[in-house]
Amino acid sequence: MVACGSDTDDETQILPLESVEPPAPANPALCSTLDYGHEQSAAEHYLFFDDDQQAAEFIRARRPAFSEISSDPRLARLMTEIHAGFVLAFPKEMQGLDVPPPIAIVDDPAPNAYALAGVAGGADGTERINPWVFVVNRPLLDLGATDTELRGLFAHELAHLVLRNGDTAVRARLAQRAYLVDGSEDWVFGAVQPGDPELQAHIAEILAYQGRVGSLPELALNAVVGGPKYTDLIRTTLEGNPECAETAAQLQELNTLQRELLPDASIGLVEPAPATETQRAELDRLTQSILDGLVSCGGEDTLSLAFLQALLAGLPPDAVAEDHSRHAELVDLMLDTELAIDAEFPEATLMARIAQVVPRLSVVLLALRADPNFPIDAIRVYDLEEDADDASARVLRAIGDDPRGVALFLLNRLMTAEQKQECEDAIAAGEGVDYGRLRDQHLPYCWRFQHLSQLAESLEQCSELPTSDLVQAG
Ligand SMILES: [Zn+2]
Repeated sequence: MVACGSDTDDETQILPLESVEPPAPANPALCSTLDYGHEQSAAEHYLFFDDDQQAAEFIRARRPAFSEISSDPRLARLMTEIHAGFVLAFPKEMQGLDVPPPIAIVDDPAPNAYALAGVAGGADGTERINPWVFVVNRPLLDLGATDTELRGLFAHELAHLVLRNGDTAVRARLAQRAYLVDGSEDWVFGAVQPGDPELQAHIAEILAYQGRVGSLPELALNAVVGGPKYTDLIRTTLEGNPECAETAAQLQELNTLQRELLPDASIGLVEPAPATETQRAELDRLTQSILDGLVSCGGEDTLSLAFLQALLAGLPPDAVAEDHSRHAELVDLMLDTELAIDAEFPEATLMARIAQVVPRLSVVLLALRADPNFPIDAIRVYDLEEDADDASARVLRAIGDDPRGVALFLLNRLMTAEQKQECEDAIAAGEGVDYGRLRDQHLPYCWRFQHLSQLAESLEQCSELPTSDLVQAG
């Protein structure tokens, strides 16, 4: 459940962390939505399809297992209801988004749904625009989900598109809301940890590395998949080049091996089990082999990685040298390692540079994680996935449905009865629920359920929020 893309709005002021007030019972911020900084022309930011045929062609080119654009009347009805909910809850962001997006069904075995990464658009090719469509893997539809659960899921995916919360500039705004304050989940973006300025100082740092390094460094995944931007580049390289077929197959092998090492993935907790010597050796072998493969089949492109990153981030080509305030700080932090690599290997190809930069960033993150003064588990981060969950709660509430829809889906359809019971018991007993360890922007399912339950309750205090009785919870 991810989305990628970009935005170029760097001008609007971002609230500094210090000015954030501690939560009050009827928190005004809770009762309004974040300013996502969108310019109000949907035409510039989305790729719309004339008809289902065109949407189908677009998806087929990117997902070989594409099956069809859904014509299921139930899914169409749920999608229409969710679209109406977005118009109520996010009227500003919905301007120009007059029709619900088509739903592409893909025959991929993983029960998943996701928005697609932005594609290059605009006259100079540097703009990234989001395709107005999202993908549902067929197994997800075979889990017997209720209307409420599917609405929650659709709202989460549509939030990625409508809010463009995978865009670099929007994520920088979201990062500003990742504060640690005393109080409860009444604060719209949540804060379960006690206020601690020491921790606060680390947030931008960890966010930068989290966004760039991605997940599971212990499993050497980052050597291959180092954050969405690299992933995009690597996927494009692999898909577009028959000489990379063997490398693509090895990547698949690596993914399978990594999944075996994630025993709690079924509850959304990507906490790897310790790898045996043999497994670790196999991880290392595959990783190295994939990197070698990418470097040799990855073409002759020697473009500066830093320059390329600036383009991908939606910044003007000279942005690396410009002052972009808070956003620039984050970008600079992420670019430091890449600039060093550029300097060290000026003649290297793009893939060769990626092969150098990703493990280095992983080392940085691992060092941070091992540092006792850097209590990574205590850091509360607000990012696009939580934003999409929170948005889904607002949307479902606006149409009279249960705001916890997406969490109910996770709990009822993806967890076992035992895991669900354990989660409900922990919440009832007031025990701490696992927040995850920043390996994944998706938080553990139980935490998402607890959070959305609290948010749903808090939203009840907001009489000014739009409500309707468009649907029946179910
Ligand atoms: Zn998502």
